[in-house]
Amino acid sequence: MSQKQTLSFQAEVAQLLHLVTHSLYSNKDIFLRELISNASDACDKLRFEALNDTSLYEDAPNLEVRVSFDKEARTLTITDNGIGLTQQEAIDNLGTIAKSGTREFMNRLSGDQKSDAQLIGQFGVGFYSGFIVADRIVVESRRAGAKPEEGVRWTSGGAGDFEVEAMERAARGTSVVLHLRDDAADYLSAWKIKSIIAKYSDHIALPILMRKETWKEGNEGEPGEMELTDEWDTVNQASALWSRPKKDITPEQYTEFYKAVSHDYEDPLAWSHNRVEGSTEYTQLLFIPAHAPMDMWNRDKAAGVKLYVRRVFIMDEAEALLPVYLRFVKGVIDSADLPLNVSRELLQESRDVKAIREGNTRRVLSMLEDLAKAEKDEAASEADKGKFARFYGEFGAVLKEGLGEDMSNRERLAKLLRFASTQSDTASVSLADYKARMKEGQDAIYYITGDTLAAAKNSPQLEIFRKKGIEVLLMTDRVDEWALGYLTEFDGTPLQSVAKGQVDLGKLQDEEEKKAAEEAAEAFKPLLARLKEALKDKAQDVRATTRLVDSPACLVASEGGMSMQLARMLKQAGQAAPETKPVLEVNADHPLVKKLDTSPNFHDLAQILFDQALLAEGGLPEDPAAYVKRVNALLV
Ligand code: ADP
Repeated sequence: MSQKQTLSFQAEVAQLLHLVTHSLYSNKDIFLRELISNASDACDKLRFEALNDTSLYEDAPNLEVRVSFDKEARTLTITDNGIGLTQQEAIDNLGTIAKSGTREFMNRLSGDQKSDAQLIGQFGVGFYSGFIVADRIVVESRRAGAKPEEGVRWTSGGAGDFEVEAMERAARGTSVVLHLRDDAADYLSAWKIKSIIAKYSDHIALPILMRKETWKEGNEGEPGEMELTDEWDTVNQASALWSRPKKDITPEQYTEFYKAVSHDYEDPLAWSHNRVEGSTEYTQLLFIPAHAPMDMWNRDKAAGVKLYVRRVFIMDEAEALLPVYLRFVKGVIDSADLPLNVSRELLQESRDVKAIREGNTRRVLSMLEDLAKAEKDEAASEADKGKFARFYGEFGAVLKEGLGEDMSNRERLAKLLRFASTQSDTASVSLADYKARMKEGQDAIYYITGDTLAAAKNSPQLEIFRKKGIEVLLMTDRVDEWALGYLTEFDGTPLQSVAKGQVDLGKLQDEEEKKAAEEAAEAFKPLLARLKEALKDKAQDVRATTRLVDSPACLVASEGGMSMQLARMLKQAGQAAPETKPVLEVNADHPLVKKLDTSPNFHDLAQILFDQALLAEGGLPEDPAAYVKRVNALLV
């Protein structure tokens, strides 16, 4: 079994490596952050597995990372005494791309070398980033608990393939030996390495050790030089960032920590760090990212919070720590009370976890409230003012899921919502803004849902509102209709869809208007009856309306029914939508409608009226060809 095998990299890896080795780097230093982070993860994994089997510690219970270099051999070595790799694990984990973040990163690549190289510099690509500075990497490893002769040596020049062979290795864990490229010789310096560790890896909870140096006097008149000793020094703070007092942590340290836990290349919009005491005790460090990940719409995936128990890493993506609608939040929770052997199933049932989840939810909402406050705060910087809009553009639609999911925070969530309206093309109108602008006598918050902003804005249902200068919120997110179903009122004012039920403008309509409408409806009755008969297969009812000004007719859903738009959406998604027929509302004042009564083509015109109302709100006639034929017959 000790024979050397040569294996090919997975195609994606080869592509990535090509990029890594053929581009210029805005920031080479990140390779060290990536390798130290892997070393630290390996130690976390060992600690976790050892909870059930302490023999895995063998005779080295102190987990640590050592960084050393050899000027002569031009190598830089990162060694950990973590979980280690079996031969098969080395083949699988160092030959393919496992991390979803890296795959996401690959999807972002534009093919343009320069901008891609910059992206790599910001992002880091895990283990493979070693090839930024090395033209050959040798990994030597032995899995914790395995025999010394079960070690593995993995070697690659970063081109198409790699070699693996068995080796004897007494020490548990992994050494990554980087054979530095000619232009990377400056990493053979303790000062340089230490400064990179201070910048990127200070938050790592394990000690990172480097050889102590001594100053060797030069011979007479000659300069002296630094020499490495056999003693090792800890060069980082070696305490988990979140366990340190807030006042000792700089914004840069928080930002670097965020990037390390989230694999994001952009700074976060906000963070909050707290020690929570009470019935359950925990430390909370939560971040709001500046942009949404690719897989945000997957409600099963996501959950960006890591769980630690008394500094021991327990699991990534602990979904029980936040409600699903806050799945974009990243960070760390360190509990003082949970048992170390807590499982995902147990988490779901734990009362401590429930308290943590509620605490986290409140904390995130108050972070968002702060961002929203800064928007209107004269004293806030321009950057801070823009943060809420940035957040909302990325995550607003996800936040709305909370209206249905989190009853206890519905009011707080409602205050954070922003919409476009007939007075604003951008999603910037809050329900409070809307209320402040309501007309005298207006007693509802009006909204309409549509597939697009243009469709919502131009829908005939809005005509009377526009004429009377009443603002209507325009909702175009897919979740809007569903979410708004849970928000029937805001601050005592009901929310009302203008596309559902009859419009009752209440006090906004004066007596004269009301009387005229009633008279018209009376005179109109016989025609309505004929229309109803002609459209009995399509429309649930036909009635006169005052909501239209320029259009002859429009469709509305019955009160409490599903809007046509939502029904259409469900159908497109292949889901069963109730077959409810819409109501056709007709504008008695429209010339087309006036002509209808005496027309010899009454039946065709009635169909056209209906189909056009359907088209106007983004639907399609049931029989488009028949519709075209009828219209053409009229045109001729
Ligand atoms: P990521 O660490 O984000 O999963 P990497 O490309 O950096 O992606 O590493 C791939 C995999 O290789 C890791 O998931 C891990 O299983 C393994 N690995 C990397 N470095 C080490 C190490 N020092 N010790 C043990 N396993 C490691």
